[in-house]
Amino acid sequence: MSAGYIATWADQKLNGNEIAKLKEDGLDVFKDLPELVKKPFSEIDPSYFMYFKYAGLTVQKPQTDGYFMMRIKIPGGRITVKQADHIAWIGEHYGHGVIDLTTRQAVQYHWIPFAELVDIFAGIENVGLTTKGAEGDITRNIVDNTLSGIDPDELFDTRQAVMDVYHRFQGNYDYSNLPRKFKISISSNVYNSADAQINDVAFTPDTKRIGRHTIQGFNVLVGGGLGMKPYLAQQLNIFVPPNRVADVAEVICRIYRDYGYRRSRSKARLKFLVADWGAEQFEDKVRESLPDLQTKGRSKVKGWNSGNALGVHRQKQDGYYYVGVSVPSGRISSDDFRALTDVARNYGRDEIRFDHCQNFIIPWIPEDKLAEVEALPIFERFSIHPHLLADYGNTCTGAEYCNLANAHTKTVFKPLIEELDRRFAFDRPINVTMTGCGSNCAHRSIADIGIEGVHARTPDRQHVEGYKLSVGGSLLGEGHFNEPLKGVFSKEQLADAVSSILADYRDHHEGDETFYDY
Ligand code: SF4
Repeated sequence: MSAGYIATWADQKLNGNEIAKLKEDGLDVFKDLPELVKKPFSEIDPSYFMYFKYAGLTVQKPQTDGYFMMRIKIPGGRITVKQADHIAWIGEHYGHGVIDLTTRQAVQYHWIPFAELVDIFAGIENVGLTTKGAEGDITRNIVDNTLSGIDPDELFDTRQAVMDVYHRFQGNYDYSNLPRKFKISISSNVYNSADAQINDVAFTPDTKRIGRHTIQGFNVLVGGGLGMKPYLAQQLNIFVPPNRVADVAEVICRIYRDYGYRRSRSKARLKFLVADWGAEQFEDKVRESLPDLQTKGRSKVKGWNSGNALGVHRQKQDGYYYVGVSVPSGRISSDDFRALTDVARNYGRDEIRFDHCQNFIIPWIPEDKLAEVEALPIFERFSIHPHLLADYGNTCTGAEYCNLANAHTKTVFKPLIEELDRRFAFDRPINVTMTGCGSNCAHRSIADIGIEGVHARTPDRQHVEGYKLSVGGSLLGEGHFNEPLKGVFSKEQLADAVSSILADYRDHHEGDETFYDY
């Protein structure tokens, strides 16, 4: 922790988490764990549970049983085959054979046992991965263009910038006590493939004329985020060359650390500070530390592809293809994960990627092997020829495991979306996304049709799970969130309710009109 930085927020009334973080840094959980796991879980004081987050752990409900949801951090969503093997192994040995893919290119498990944590972490570190900072009030997994380095639609390769930022923050005690989580997105894809506007900080492709040369780099957006009160990020008038991305990310994080709000956790994200200051004042603060930054150049963003990389496509390298495999509801068994890993092992180049939409990407398939790969039996169950409705939505953990959920998600979403896919055929992807509460983890607010789990009551006042619908989200242009419709539906009513929206859109939209436009 930097000496003296507390002074800037010492006059705030601090919430309980903040007071606890002053007594012990979140990253110290790794020092505590070897002794902690020798005790029965029942002896762990629930006030300690917030520290588990810094190790990528959330106590799973019922919170007395000593099992965790565990998330592994994967910068840019890229892993080797050896790492993939270990991810499958953990799922098989500890996670009841199940692996969930997240909307930040990471993986997570349930049923991780308290007593085994030290060994599990040692195994993860041994293959070059970590859970450190996968949750908690810290820099979260950095999202990148899923296809960086192989993408015909990128301005330049962003992998080095992502790793520069990762190493700047990872395990860094200067930035381990933030007001809340801090999310960074980096992409030079011209279709906004890393969902820039919903991140605390986003780097988007830009070119700048300097003298007689045109330089490629980034614009910067700040203050986006979903959650209960979603905000779209605002643009700063800054141009950042790729080799200075980590410097700019660090300065913005420092401003957040020092001036962010620590009184109420529901108002602690950077978006609230940016909304209060405005982009201009925020930029002035950035320039106090980095006065030599150029003003922004010409944005190269010309659309939005939802960060999706489904299907079989040419890479920018001649003779090679990537295969984007749909993982329904983002949930896959360890056995199937291993079968997909085998495709990368046998046909690719020791590399697997995860996109922002809970899917599995296998790059570097040689053209002369493509037909053989497409015929593999695993792709009969995991589509590489995506259904434009069934394969484009996301869903979060929901009531099955999440302590905050109002309703079940994955078990409701999969049959729902398959039914909708049987009823409709569209000529462009339609994004139907479901979350289990207003926290918006699966990005419900930017979906064409968003479904949110809510508490509902039957006519005789019994509590039941219900679902509300919102329509018209998109990150095209500056972006806009979908808008809620009236009514709450039971899971049995959902297929007909969503179908009526889809039918209306099918019958009335013109050309490229989105759900927002028509
Ligand atoms: Fe849990 Fe709500 Fe996030 Fe879903 S959106 S994972 S229910 S907190």
